[in-house]
Amino acid sequence: MPEGSGEFDVVVLGAGSGGYACALRAAQLGLSVALVEKDKVGGTCLHVGCIPTKALLHAAEVADSARESEQFGVRATLEGIDMAGVNAYKDGVVSRLHKGLTGLVSSRGITVVQGTGRLTGPRTVEVDGASYTGRSVVLASGSFSRTLPGVEVDGTRVLTSEQALGLTEVPRSVVVLGGGVIGVEFASVWRSFGAEVTILEALPHLVPSEDEQSSKSLERAFRKRGIRFHLGTRVESVKATDAGVVVTVEGGATHEADLLLVAVGRGPVTDGLGYAEQGVTLDRGFVVTDERCRTSVEGVYAVGDIVPGLQLAHRGFAQGVLVAEQVAGLDPRPVEESTIPRVTYSEPEVASVGLTEAQARERHGDEVETLTYDLGGNGKSQILKTQGFVKLVRRTDGPVLGVHLVGSRVGELIGEAQLIVGWDAHPEDVAPFLHAHPTQDEALGEAHLALAGKPLHAHS
Ligand code: NAD
Repeated sequence: MPEGSGEFDVVVLGAGSGGYACALRAAQLGLSVALVEKDKVGGTCLHVGCIPTKALLHAAEVADSARESEQFGVRATLEGIDMAGVNAYKDGVVSRLHKGLTGLVSSRGITVVQGTGRLTGPRTVEVDGASYTGRSVVLASGSFSRTLPGVEVDGTRVLTSEQALGLTEVPRSVVVLGGGVIGVEFASVWRSFGAEVTILEALPHLVPSEDEQSSKSLERAFRKRGIRFHLGTRVESVKATDAGVVVTVEGGATHEADLLLVAVGRGPVTDGLGYAEQGVTLDRGFVVTDERCRTSVEGVYAVGDIVPGLQLAHRGFAQGVLVAEQVAGLDPRPVEESTIPRVTYSEPEVASVGLTEAQARERHGDEVETLTYDLGGNGKSQILKTQGFVKLVRRTDGPVLGVHLVGSRVGELIGEAQLIVGWDAHPEDVAPFLHAHPTQDEALGEAHLALAGKPLHAHS
């Protein structure tokens, strides 16, 4: 048997959010675990996704604060963005978290196998000639940045988000292909850093999966910030030149810039990993599972971005824990896809949980009520000089079905919103709870008071 081969209770293929969460929980429950990873423990989210982009967005907020300081009576000037300094800060955050995670994984006695794994038997993962067999196998191989036919990513002029994180200078101008979450977050960063930014989005709105009112509010805010965008505009081809990129859209119009960011979604990493050969059912590259993350092969589970649904780190964590607990013989509740919170960390932020108004009307027809509480009436938001709203969608005389938020920092409010939607609370159940004054959280309280028929700081 080659060195390292062995038998484990659980073999996890991929150490991103879904995979490492599964490994940690399984080990905590007393199971022996092998965690196979070709790159670094932590995966996309920690190294080239959530964490570094949010660090960039925080640096962007600092730049905005300096630029707008006079509005608060503070005299400061923004001299410029030192990308080496920004990157050192961002990389420092990532490396501290990575060190912490590596320590945690090793303290739980998990065997980390460094290398590219492949499913070679229904319960066997092979890595560099060594075989790791599990009573259970968990597929957690994550996702990659997609591109479009006619758009060749060259890593210099035409970039994926991962490549954009490594830029050593602020571009003068950028075209962002795709106005989804990644496109909007990068557009926000680059604009704060002083670049000319143009977003091209095929659908009629930015962040098109959000409630239309949220999308429109973000569009208004972006317009004010000087971020250009063209909606209902499909990109057809891109030409990279020495000087930059020329992007041609349907109808023939062109847009020129130093760089193009391609942000048209992420595809599942499942090709060439032996999944289909071992009988795991795939659908357009995604692994098909039931609500308990079980694949078509007994004892083989899948978690994270390779499973159809929201590609979010916190969903991956929850699925990983679900699988570990099942494998350990517990009876955990499946992850409820409909109450997963979503946050786009742009300036302003967009956050939501549950149904949009359109989805609620599709399901419940006229038995839907909505209420929008403007952040203009919220003291803390006035102090921060941010605009936006809290929008509630409820079933008439029934529970709150969806909460939608726009404004600086509102992502931090989504936890309470999730409890409300997840617990099927009625506005009348929420109304008696106090919200500290002055917080932005109060806006959530005020919105529920208003929907329960007793508005305080709102016009009835
Ligand atoms: P996305 O699916 O959110 O957005 C892609 C956008 O590209 C869509 O709006 C789509 O209409 C548009 N598009 C596609 N083809 C086009 C064309 N030819 N011309 C113009 N526009 C076109 O995907 P993303 O933004 O790349 O993000 C990938 C995944 O990563 C998402 O699932 C996202 O949820 C996740 N993610 C989440 C966060 C977060 O939660 N804050 C941050 C980053 C990424």
